[in-house]
Formats: sequence, C-alpha cells, structure tokens
Amino acid sequence: MDTRVVKKKLGLKERYAAMTRGLHWDTTYQPMDKVFPYDKYEGIKIHDWDKWEDPFRLTMDAYWKYQAEKEKKLYAVIEAFAQSHGELGVTDARYINALKLFIQGVTPLEYYAHRGFAHAGRQFTGAGARVASQMQAVDELRHFQTETHAISHYNKYYNGMHNANHWFDNVWYLSVPKSFFEDAYSGGPFEFLTAVSFSFEYVLTNLLFVPFMSGAAHNGDLSTVTFGFSAQSDESRHMTLGIECIKFMLEQDPGNVPIVQRWMDKWFWRGYRLLTLVAMMQDYMLPKRVMSWKEAWEMYAESNGGALFADLARYGIRKPKGWEDACEGKDHISHQAWATFYQYGHAAAFHTWIPSKDELDWLSSKYPDTFQRHYRARLEHWGEQAEGKEGRWYNQILPMLCQVCQVPTLFTEPGDATEIALRETTYHGMKYHFCSDHCKEIFEHEPKKYVQAWIPVHQIYQGSCYPDEINPASPGDSPVREVIRYYGINGGEDNGEFSSSEDRQHFRQWSGRMKPQGHGE
Ligand code: FE
Ligand code: ZN
Repeated sequence: MDTRVVKKKLGLKERYAAMTRGLHWDTTYQPMDKVFPYDKYEGIKIHDWDKWEDPFRLTMDAYWKYQAEKEKKLYAVIEAFAQSHGELGVTDARYINALKLFIQGVTPLEYYAHRGFAHAGRQFTGAGARVASQMQAVDELRHFQTETHAISHYNKYYNGMHNANHWFDNVWYLSVPKSFFEDAYSGGPFEFLTAVSFSFEYVLTNLLFVPFMSGAAHNGDLSTVTFGFSAQSDESRHMTLGIECIKFMLEQDPGNVPIVQRWMDKWFWRGYRLLTLVAMMQDYMLPKRVMSWKEAWEMYAESNGGALFADLARYGIRKPKGWEDACEGKDHISHQAWATFYQYGHAAAFHTWIPSKDELDWLSSKYPDTFQRHYRARLEHWGEQAEGKEGRWYNQILPMLCQVCQVPTLFTEPGDATEIALRETTYHGMKYHFCSDHCKEIFEHEPKKYVQAWIPVHQIYQGSCYPDEINPASPGDSPVREVIRYYGINGGEDNGEFSSSEDRQHFRQWSGRMKPQGHGE
C-alpha cells in the first residue's frame, strides 16, 4: 500500500505567487543584464520590479481549464451554424465583405501579436511582466485560430477568402495593418507594450471589436459573434496589462515620462490610421448598421479616452499629439476611404458598391455637416456612370502611399476637406511622402527604420509584383491586372463591383432571398 501524501493546500494568492514570481531566479553564471539585454536599451528605468501589479492573476493550469471551456462552447456554435448553412442566412452577401476584410486584415494581426508577446515577454527582467506577456502570447495564438475557424467556413460559399495570408504579405491595403505590427514588434519590449497593450488594446480596441462584432450580430453572423464573446474575457485581461504597464513605467522613474509620451503620440496616431479601414467597414459595408463611425468615435475615443488621459495627467502625461486631428477626422475618413476602395475596387480582394438611396440618406443624417456637402454627389455621380454607357469607374493610376502608415494619401488637410494633405521630407538625398504632419514626425524621429518600409505601390513600380512570365518594363495593356494575378487574387471574382458579382448571384440563388434585409438601426 502506498502511503498517503498529505498535500498542503495553498491559498489562491500563495498559489499564484508560487506559480509565477516564485519561478523566477536571478542568474549567476551570467549577469542578469546579459540575459535580459533589451529591457534597458530603450532608456526606460525600472528600479523595483516587485512593484509590478500582475494584471491577470491566473495560474497556467487555471488558464488552460478556463480557455478549454470557452473553446468547447465556441466550436459547438460554429459547428451548428455551419451545419444549418448559417452562411446563407446573413442579411445580404455584401456583409461577407466585412468578414473578408476581417480575415485578411485583422486575423493575421492576432498571429503577429502572438509573436510579439512571445518575443517581448522574454525580454523583461521582471517575472510578473514576463508571465503576463506569455499568457497573452497564448491568447493571441488562440484568437488567430478561433477567428480562422469562425470565418473560414464561409469560404465554401463566397469568393475573396481563399488566400488571406498571402495577401496580407503583398496587397497594398493590407500593408497598413501589417506595417503597424512590424513597426511595433521591431521596437523594444516597453515600446511594444505601449503600442499594442496600451494604444491598441486599451485605447482603441473597442473601436475595432465593437463595429465588427456587433456588426456581425446585427447581420445574422452568429459564428463571428460567438468568437467575439469568446475573446472578450481575454481582451479585458489584455487591456489591464496595457494600463498596468503604462502606470508602472510612469511610477518607476520621472525620466520615463517623456519616452512614454512620445510612444503614445506615435502609437495613437498609427492606431488611428489603421482604424480607417474599420471606419469604412462600419459606415459602408454593413447592410444593417450598428452606429456610425462618428458616433463610435465620440463614445469610445472622445469620452472614454478623454477620461483616461485626464487620469494620466497626474503623471505629467497629456493627450496624444494627433488627438485633435483624429477627432476632426471622424466626420471624413470613412467616406474618403470608401471612395478610394470604390475606385480601386479592381485591385482589392473584396467587392465594393455604391450605397443604395436609403443608405445614402442614412449617411447624410449621420454626417449632416460633411457627407451631404463633400461626399454624396461623388457617389451618386459614380452610380450614374456605372448605369450609363461609360460604365463603372476604376482608377488605373496607382496612388501614393504614406511612408509611415502606408495608407494612400487620401486624407484631407485639417480644417479643409477640399485639399488633399501631403507632406514630404528629404533623407540622404531621397524624398519621402506622408499623409499628415504626424506620420512625417514619426518618420523624422526614426528615419533609419522607415526608409526600409516595403511600400506596395513602390514595389509594383519597381517591377517586384508581376508574375514571372511578365516583363515588368512592358507589363502589357493592363499592368494592374497582372499585379492582381501576381497577388493570387482572381480578378472579377474576388473583387470589382458587387452588383454583378458571383457572390451576389450565388447568395440569391442559394438563399432564395432576392432583397437584402433592412438597414438602419
Ligand atoms: Fe487578440
Ligand atoms: Zn500616414
């Protein structure tokens, strides 16, 4: 007979301490600074890592158990949804284009976040920060997987989803999210946490998740909504890590304040520029709308973010530099972005269209100061053109991209919506172009980093984006078509006009529904 082992039961707090910080030791064969070389080189000074408050308070075993429960529920819903052909029960096939944008542009970011946290987490001398980063790294890998599963079954029925990872690495509008994360994880560990945990997760995440997830709910996409719920509790842990990291840096040394402020200025602006895609999706791509981008911005940025920065003022932190310009942009950016995607509808991997009369009226009512004055007539004109003998308008001239945010320079001057904003600077005899003062300033602080940016339009003009058998010097009568072929996008199937698309035809045929369900709130 075995002797019974009496286990001493640890309390929750003790157990947590033993399983996290208790696993840390100071190295002796090598100096600690050599083992953790990156957590000092950004200039952040930490005097006492014990002051770090663990934001997660979860041990690894509890974490696995908890996450497994959530997975079980999620996969049961996805399965049921797919078996009852929920893909054909959404409001309208236009909605699927929001999902395409999500799986092309957001899901790969989850994987980048996974890599970033795994890498940054390794670099902290403090065990608390290391454990939190490690756990988030696992969360992010899970998000990549669950999003892929929640959305990929749509691929059976619709175009534009079969090659998302390849597109992420090549296609112009996807270099916007891609470059955001590559910029973040090629910074040091503290900058990475400021960029991703604070600016992205804490300040801006509601503006990403609410539109997509309540958009999914409103448009009958139970699969994606359930993913959203499943990620929500992870998300709240991530936000806690974001604010903890900021407060910790600010409290440890007054010398950290200007460094953190500069990062906030930079990453708020980069995050805001990235959200242009979400703004457009929210105002134009949801057949049944949730709220306007402007309303979301007022709720989640202006009031929540305003309160946050008021709270951080006691550390000597002010609102990010681009704040006022971003607030002015709430009236414009979704319209400017959709107009751009409409014109380049043959060069993206989703469909675009002119909103219906009701939808134009909705936009006029949500944007009384700007849509009616600046944007409506252009859409109506394009709509008439598409009906008439001129046919649908596609722009064959490639746009200039901003060297930092990589968005086409489509934004207008603060205070003047009739003037495109352009900035430039010269570095080592070369000219670089920007969408705004803020992107220019980001460049000028670290020019050596941004001159290396892989700018999709430059790459096309340099001949790097043509199929092997095409001579880049004379790519034929439709160079853009050859580039699309190189991207692996099926021109005319995955992109172009929605009303003549296979997606629309199939949806009508298979669902038996000829008309989209109502829009508005
Ligand atoms: Fe995530
Ligand atoms: Zn820019």
